Amino acid sequence: MKYDVIIIGAGPGGIYSAYELLKLNSDIKIAMFETGKSLEKRKCPIDGDKVKSCIGCKTCAIMNGFGGAGAFSDGKYNITNHFGGTLCEYIGKQKALDLMKYVDDINMANGGEGTKLYSTANTKIKTLCLEHDLHLLDAQVRHLGTDKNYVVLENLYNVLKDKMDIFFETPVKTVKVVDGGYNVITAKGEYFAKNVISSVGRSGSKWMEEVCHDLDIPKSSNRVDIGVRVELPAEIFAHLTDELYESKIKFRTQKFQDMVRTFCMNPHGVVVNENTNGIVTVNGHSYEDPSKHTGNTNFALLVSKHFSEPFKDSNGYGESIARLSNMLGGGVIVQRFGDLVRGKRSNQNRIEESFMTPTLNATPGDLSLVMPKRILDGIIEMIYALDKIAPGTANDDTLLYGVEVKFYNMQVEIDNNLMTKHKGLFVIGDGSGVTHSLSHASASGVYVARYIVENLI
Ligand SMILES: Cc1cc2nc3c(=O)[nH]c(=O)nc-3n(C[C@H](O)[C@H](O)[C@H](O)COP(=O)(O)OP(=O)(O)OC[C@H]3O[C@@H](n4cnc5c(N)ncnc54)[C@H](O)[C@@H]3O)c2cc1C
Repeated sequence: MKYDVIIIGAGPGGIYSAYELLKLNSDIKIAMFETGKSLEKRKCPIDGDKVKSCIGCKTCAIMNGFGGAGAFSDGKYNITNHFGGTLCEYIGKQKALDLMKYVDDINMANGGEGTKLYSTANTKIKTLCLEHDLHLLDAQVRHLGTDKNYVVLENLYNVLKDKMDIFFETPVKTVKVVDGGYNVITAKGEYFAKNVISSVGRSGSKWMEEVCHDLDIPKSSNRVDIGVRVELPAEIFAHLTDELYESKIKFRTQKFQDMVRTFCMNPHGVVVNENTNGIVTVNGHSYEDPSKHTGNTNFALLVSKHFSEPFKDSNGYGESIARLSNMLGGGVIVQRFGDLVRGKRSNQNRIEESFMTPTLNATPGDLSLVMPKRILDGIIEMIYALDKIAPGTANDDTLLYGVEVKFYNMQVEIDNNLMTKHKGLFVIGDGSGVTHSLSHASASGVYVARYIVENLI
């Protein structure tokens, strides 16, 4: 089969590139290959009853399938160049923001209408943060919520499905450069396209590395973020989350001068497991529907580790730390803040007797046996700093889940059009190392679609 464009991966990057290609030219022949299942067939076996923790399915329903890693996420679309990726370094700040707003318009037209757009503009919280050496980053945040995010994906699928070929449960094995384009070899056959958009996300990072190796595309990797997910009563952060929903706050520790930041805030949300290539880490999300709200808010505290030569395997470093928590706890470990600072392991009794009800069934344990001291010290310092703007953060019963790891895909060498050195082969979204978020990944898809229609079709 011959196509004008083959898209690898049906995450936000792949979906929005398909959407824009078809919008600009409905005659374009497009195929999309996806390792995971269609949206309605994506079911994680963890039911909290018979299956309580991750059983390591061959293809993870949370990370793979239509909607990609974002399908069951909180659906927070951050419209900002300050975090979520470095797309603006490739395409320019204004262009990046315009595309993120354009994606927001598409989401609103496809089921997201009525959801709230939060903003840090003119907030007094910024001053409150600065008074305590905490730094609030500027952003607008559209919170779709897990439920509305699903509806938007359903609607986008209905827009696309009859206008292109979508192959689920069809992982792409290799991509070969041939005369006039590319042969894309999948588990179920071989296909040709003049242009290929690879949008394989974090779960496809190892595969992307192999493709870069085979096609001699330069790449580099030197960063990983390691930390914990904090869970506390929603009231403690309510003054921030009611106004901003998500606040990205940075703090430089006094002890080591390391940067610690809040990440992925979920008011009234739940803490969840995340499985990346068989390693169980922690994440969180929350629902737009008030009937699904919990009494807790969760967010991550992360410390970025940048490595210099000769070390090259930053993700391997993060994986090793996560593996340690999996070895000790059989998955994610949970510890009360009070136990951590007193050097005690949390146990089931102490968790049950506390005033907090955990939303994830994790193994009580001791995070100091897992996390490097420098990182853990930074997290403790940040918790005390946050306690000044949100008193109660450093309460004994505040729960810390570990390990949360943000793996950064290696940075694929691409030009300002997000194209590799091979004409017509684009690498976008989280799989490129350029984006780390729904909004940036989606925007990169739209950008490349426009470039292809204007220059290569
Ligand atoms: C639990 C969770 C919550 C999150 N919450 C948020 C949030 O609220 N806001 C935010 O901005 N970001 C969030 N993120 C991150 C966000 O989901 C990602 O940044 C975004 O999905 C990246 O989009 P992408 O298209 O680049 O990749 P992905 O969404 O990862 O999609 C890649 C797709 O490619 C497929 N694939 C991989 N390899 C192959 C192959 N060889 N052949 C065929 N298909 C392949 C995968 O199965 C996957 O479906 C969250 C992530 C998780 C896991």
